[in-house]
This record gives sequence, C-alpha cells and structure tokens, in this order.
Amino acid sequence: MKLAINQDRLNSEIEELAAISDADPPAVTRVVFTPTDLKARAWMQARCEAAGLALRQDAIGNTFARWIGSESAAPVVGTGSHIDAIPNAGKYDGVVGVLGGLEAIRALQKAGFRPRHPIELLVFTSEEPTRFGIGCLGSRLLAGTLSADAAKKLADNDGASIEDVRRKAGMTGHLEEVKLPNGYYKAFVELHIEQGPLLEREQKPLGVVERIAAPASLRVLIEGAGGHAGGVLMPDRRDALCAAAEVILAIEQAARTTGAIDTVATVGICDVFPGAVNSFPATVRLSVDIRDTTLERRDSVMKTIDAVCHTVSVKRQVSIHSELLNADAPADCAPAIVATLTQICARHGFSFLPMTSRAYHDSLFISRIAPVAMLFIPCRKGYSHRPDEYSSPEDIARGALVLAETLATLAA
Ligand SMILES: [Zn+2]
Repeated sequence: MKLAINQDRLNSEIEELAAISDADPPAVTRVVFTPTDLKARAWMQARCEAAGLALRQDAIGNTFARWIGSESAAPVVGTGSHIDAIPNAGKYDGVVGVLGGLEAIRALQKAGFRPRHPIELLVFTSEEPTRFGIGCLGSRLLAGTLSADAAKKLADNDGASIEDVRRKAGMTGHLEEVKLPNGYYKAFVELHIEQGPLLEREQKPLGVVERIAAPASLRVLIEGAGGHAGGVLMPDRRDALCAAAEVILAIEQAARTTGAIDTVATVGICDVFPGAVNSFPATVRLSVDIRDTTLERRDSVMKTIDAVCHTVSVKRQVSIHSELLNADAPADCAPAIVATLTQICARHGFSFLPMTSRAYHDSLFISRIAPVAMLFIPCRKGYSHRPDEYSSPEDIARGALVLAETLATLAA
C-alpha cells in the first residue's frame, strides 16, 4: 500500500480552522461551547462528512467520526485530539491530532485500504481547563474517571452550570451516557505537537511517547484581614498576599528538592483582593499545578504543600484552605502500540526519540479504558499555548503518515 499525505490540504485546513477564532491572527482563542467553538465544530464535522465518515456526538459534545470496518462490531481503533484553544493560543495544539487524524484516514481511503476494525476520529470536548477549571473534561467522562454527578457540579467562571452551558450549545442527552463501554477500543493513538523543546534540540522529527506524567491541581484560598495601607501598622496586619508569597516560594522549593528533574510545580494564577494600591490584601486565590512521572514523588510534593499551608497559616494567622481539583495517576503507553510506531518509523528511516509526555493529554484518560500511545512532532523552540506556536507542514505530514500506517496496522 502506497500512502500519500496531502500536505497542502492538511496545511490549508489548519489555517482555515485557525481563522475560526476570538483572537486576532496569528493568535487563536477558542473556548469550549462559545459561538466560535461551535462554529469550529460544525466546520470540522462537515470535513468528516465529506470524507464519508459517520458522525456521532455524545452529551458533552465529544464528536466521533467513524470509518466503518468490514467487521462493524469489532473493537474500534481510535485517534484524535482536541480543537479547543486557551485564550491567545496557537494553531497547532490539538488541531494537528484532529486534522492530521482526518488526513491519515483520507490517505488510507485513497490508497484503497479497507479496515477490518472501525477506525474512528475523536474530537474531545474541553481538553483545556479554561472554562470549567478542569482539563480533559470529555475524555475524563468517556473513561469514567470523572462521574456524571461530579461533572454536573462544575460551573464556568460566570457561574453558569455545565448542564445549562452544554444544553444551550445543543448537546442533548445525559452525561451518564457519555462513558464508553468496556472493550470499546482495541487501541487509541494520539498525534500531538511536543509542546517542549527536546525534539528540536535532538534534531529528531518524531517522538514516540512511552509514558504520560501525572498531573494534579489545587486551588488555594488564603484569607487574612485587609485594611488601610497607612492606618494599620505592621504588627497588626494579617496580609494575605505576604502569606501567599511564602506559600508560592515553598511550592517552588518543594519541587526543586525532590532530587528528580521530572518534578515540576507551578503557581499560574494569583488573584489578589481587593487589589487596591492603598489597601493591604485581605484575600488571595492561587492556582497550583504539580506534575511528575511517578505518583509517589508527585504526592510527596503535595503533602509538603499541605504542611507549608498549615505552617504559614499558623505563623501569619491567616486561614488557608486548599481544594484539590484533580490528582491523576501517570500512564504507561501500550508496549504493542509503541512497538508498531517504532517499527513504522524505522521502516521509513525516520529517526525518533522515545519520550515522556510532561503535558497531559486526553490519551492519559483514555489509557484507563484502552491501550494508548502518542506520537509527537516538533514545535519550534518548544513554544506552545502562545500565538507563535509553530510546526512545519513537513513535520505535520510526516506525523500524519506514521499515524496512518499505524492505524492501518492496528485496524487490519
Ligand atoms: Zn493539546
């Protein structure tokens, strides 16, 4: 079978999708269930229909586009990623896996391949946590790692419940029905940009992911007592921001001292109230993100953070409340799919890097119900989640080609 990826079509579709955005180009903003996201979904569905794929959308808006196999009841060979984008993002995160997956299917169709197992392209809902505070909403529900009841308690930053938001966006049905049955997948493979600098640095065109790191996130609320910046003297203050500063530095220190380069911890949001120049802060809200390749180390950092919160609250007489948003286990990619990917790379003479994915992806959650693997392509300087994110058309097409042959091998 001679496969040809239509690089020009793939690249122009990436540009076309990038134009459906709430930010000025080259930035892309596409937050889940906004009118722009719905427009992008409709555009994507039209592309899938044009390729003869059968569409299904579940209650949270995960979209399945199926190429029916000769054994229609056989377990599915899946691929896919997401098309939602954080504010002021780039064109390639997620999109490469969705449009690259579609192009892989079209290349197989054109080459006359006939799958035995169904091959299904999956566009996940809300991989990004922008709107509901939790990433990989769609894949968590598909895997059952987030229950329908827990999902229903989620609300967006304006207080709108997920049930209202999704119904207004036209997603009907019950969240209880989103979870996929056991044995649904034979295999799932996600193509994605690396979002880090290693492939470029090592001059490797492809990365074969063997492990996905374990993410956790917390919201920390620090409540002291605010007051007049002139009237209240230092001994009488319970300054929430000064307490937060101690907590933030201790979080950095906790990650730096595990002895492993794989431990990372980030305070990405620090909201200060009331936020006035002549008032010392009464309340601070922090968002904390902790990741590691082993669960034990990740959890030990979280324990340290708990202890620090306690110490700082006693010392500064502020209340510190931390709320766990998620704490997920790492995942090993399926050795058999990893072997298929590496054999295909070797057959073409494409050099590749075996890697750990430090960003998490929908595949982390699909790994709870299916054998998964991921294929990375380089992105310039490792930039991602910013407007100058870039992967070359050649690298994208190479990824789509390896993906296509992998899907064919798995679905034969
Ligand atoms: Zn992504």
